Amino acid sequence: MSADFGFSVIATDGRARRGRVRLAHGEIETPVFMPVGTRAAVKGLTHDQVTALDPAIILANTYHLHLRPGDALIGRAGGLHAFMGWERPILTDSGGYQVFSLTGQRTITEDGAAFRSHLDGSAHLLTPESVVDIQARLGSDVAMIFDECAPWPADRGVVEAAMERTLRWARRGRDRFLAVQAGAAPEVPRATPGQAQFGIIQGGTHLDLRDRSVAGTVALDFEAYAIGGLSVGEPVDLMYEVVGHTAAQLPADRPRYLMGTGMPDDLVECVARGIDMFDCVLPTRNARNGQALLRGGRIVIKQARYKDDPRPLDEACPCPACAGGYSRAYLRHLFIAGEILVLRLLSVHNLTLYGALVRGAREAIAKGEYERFAREWLEAPPPDA
Ligand SMILES: [Zn+2]
Repeated sequence: MSADFGFSVIATDGRARRGRVRLAHGEIETPVFMPVGTRAAVKGLTHDQVTALDPAIILANTYHLHLRPGDALIGRAGGLHAFMGWERPILTDSGGYQVFSLTGQRTITEDGAAFRSHLDGSAHLLTPESVVDIQARLGSDVAMIFDECAPWPADRGVVEAAMERTLRWARRGRDRFLAVQAGAAPEVPRATPGQAQFGIIQGGTHLDLRDRSVAGTVALDFEAYAIGGLSVGEPVDLMYEVVGHTAAQLPADRPRYLMGTGMPDDLVECVARGIDMFDCVLPTRNARNGQALLRGGRIVIKQARYKDDPRPLDEACPCPACAGGYSRAYLRHLFIAGEILVLRLLSVHNLTLYGALVRGAREAIAKGEYERFAREWLEAPPPDA
């Protein structure tokens, strides 16, 4: 295991855990929510604004950065941290999810995934090994393995084959990662010595496939484990069941990361099932669609009901949008007029809610009050009630 990596569980309450993860660029407290900076930016926000929200870690997308501006260019700049001017931890995904979403423009073989760029149609090949090399040049704190995510719904045979291939790719990716970290691949500059690599559990909604995926992945001894292949359209109760079952099989001394799942209620439910790390585009994507997320629901700011509404989005929210004197009526006007300020304010508001949620969860776990905390979130009345 990387010497720069560490994980300690500080408190538990039921199956919920409060912990601390040590990464090459600093420590993060868990449960944690990672805002998504797809193309090395949390859309529209400065680094100051992002750090003020207290996410100690952001996520960036390998697929997008490999295509533009290219990991070679970012490597020459000294890695993603130097290129962006961001000093805190970064997690990079493997690009697998994006490539598999390019239906009709990609070919999957045992070697890897050949695809055409969505930008200019140019041909590319991602393999379990090349994805390790790309993330080494990017120099993220956490690199993810290249996995195959089966669609939902899919025949059991399709899900099983994707899970088995993910296991074979995990072995190849782990071997390559350990070689790169040991300096055995001098052609690959390592922007962040001490990078960690997380394995990914697949298996769809089949619990026995999840068990086999856990056994095979944990045998490779990754720094931590992610649960992938969920929030792809399956019913939410089934997702919770798979998360609870799978998290319970994973080693207690390693962080558990649920990939790409993120309504606030999902975070509350999945922390209770032993998940430590989350990411989702939802708070920033919904902001761009004019949605403010609140406890108990959401406000769709363009609706006529807010035309003369002098109240802030949420009177209890300390964010610059709510505490800064921006009324619903004004935000609605900005949205309808196409003013970019509203997108920034809604993003900051939504990310503030997620920050408050995970901070509250950490405090509640430490006090042994997670059940009460969860109930308060899940039973909060709708915003306009
Ligand atoms: Zn707010």
